[in-house]
Amino acid sequence: MRITALETFILHVPVSGGAIADGSHRVAHWGAPGVAIHTDAGLIGTGYTGTHAHLASDRMITSCIEEAFGPLLIGCDPREVRALWTRLQRHPPLQWVGRAGITHLAHAAIDVALWDLKAQAAGEPLWRLLGGAADQRLEAYDTDGGWLDRSDEQLVAETESRLAQGYRAVKIKVGSRDVRGRLDPARDLQRVASVRAALPADGRLMVDANGAWDLATALEAGRALADLGVAWLEEPIWYDDVPGHARLARELTTPIALGEQLYTLDAFRDFIAAGAVHYVQADAVRLAGVTEWWRVAELAHAHHLPVVPHIGDMMQVHLHLALAHPACTLLEHIPWMRECFVESANVVDGSFAVPQRPGAGTALRADALERFGVGR
Ligand code: MG
Repeated sequence: MRITALETFILHVPVSGGAIADGSHRVAHWGAPGVAIHTDAGLIGTGYTGTHAHLASDRMITSCIEEAFGPLLIGCDPREVRALWTRLQRHPPLQWVGRAGITHLAHAAIDVALWDLKAQAAGEPLWRLLGGAADQRLEAYDTDGGWLDRSDEQLVAETESRLAQGYRAVKIKVGSRDVRGRLDPARDLQRVASVRAALPADGRLMVDANGAWDLATALEAGRALADLGVAWLEEPIWYDDVPGHARLARELTTPIALGEQLYTLDAFRDFIAAGAVHYVQADAVRLAGVTEWWRVAELAHAHHLPVVPHIGDMMQVHLHLALAHPACTLLEHIPWMRECFVESANVVDGSFAVPQRPGAGTALRADALERFGVGR
């Protein structure tokens, strides 16, 4: 099987309720710049990364796929995906300008498409190709009811709605600011207490600051969160701050979760070696695809750390990965892109249904580009 062509696309899909906010971002659409990789066998592999639907930077990603990586792939066998990963990642002129950021996200989309092809060629869903079992329970936790721009009443109503659907774990955002724009952790603690009170005793509540806090705020608020039974504190401070997170991990009893903004295996190695993370939130579309995600998951597993993927792909690929890797027992749920896929990730009574279709779960519905595609 040989690669014959790469065809890029950009999807901008509306988020829930028209817009959502966290401690650092406000977005109205989720972006999925991606690629369809065509082969002489007639199979087409689909991969994409996840963005905040900023068309100018999405175009940088698709142009990197087409113009920089594309010529390195034409004529190659897509099943040799791990060898191709190294060829793309270590191509000297691209290594010089890349290793993170735009080039890494472009590589992620390509690597996901290649694994999609490899699984299709094997006639199996990716989780089975990677060695997972069909009879397992992967618990879902919901993030889509806990945005920072939702009122306390909305947070409680969303939590009650998730409980009625069978969820037993939810995540809400912190990083509130007062009218002068100053951090307001007291307000955050009120929000957390409201949701905690709405959950049953065995319900799990996670809290995510999206890097909004400084170290002093994180230390003070983190101690108060422990009294509220928070299961983890996610991205409390600046994403790349290894010593800051190591200090929080030492001084707080609430576990630290992070990883959605880390691009490389090397970055995860540094956080893990410093004892700065308890829940490893590797994202295959921020890392360079399935290939690098698996290496991070193996590294975490060797340190007996749970991996709870961040779902920059809106669950499709990560569902397969989480079903296949023993470090994963829990996966995030955000349903924004469910109308894009032939076989969307589906939660039944708090657990993910096991996908059956050959591939990585990335195949787009025939009308996805028409409905959500934007100008290239
Ligand atoms: Mg997060």
